[in-house]
Amino acid sequence: MSYFRVNENCNGCLACVENCPASALSFNDEDDRRTLKHNMTKCARCGQCWRVCPQKAIEFQHLLVGRWDEVVTLDLIRCQVCGEPLYSKAYLQKLAAELDSTREALCPQHRQRQAASKWPHTC
Ligand code: SF4
Ligand code: SF4
Repeated sequence: MSYFRVNENCNGCLACVENCPASALSFNDEDDRRTLKHNMTKCARCGQCWRVCPQKAIEFQHLLVGRWDEVVTLDLIRCQVCGEPLYSKAYLQKLAAELDSTREALCPQHRQRQAASKWPHTC
């Protein structure tokens, strides 16, 4: 689905195409049809097309407010003591395969405390 959409008010004036600083808009006239085209990989999301459109035909607001799309969700490992997020389970598995698989899940603060508690006490 394209992020760039026009509503029924578009009359094909091409003001958006002519004013796009990134050449992200184009068109082609074929037979008796004019087709407006948008290239997301070129689009700078500057909103210039939306500002210059005399028909208020570009529905671009949803892009300008900055939408985030979820890409992946992974299991998270947290510090066993305080619950601070550390790394993903998949990352831990990769580390464990390459390094010491016996390490406990601890944040830097609690790892330091655990290490300190194992030192012999001197008076
Ligand atoms: S400027 Fe607006 S009315 Fe003109 S072609 Fe672009 S979207 Fe359509
Ligand atoms: S937002 Fe800017 S770069 Fe993207 S199509 Fe509109 S004018 Fe071109």
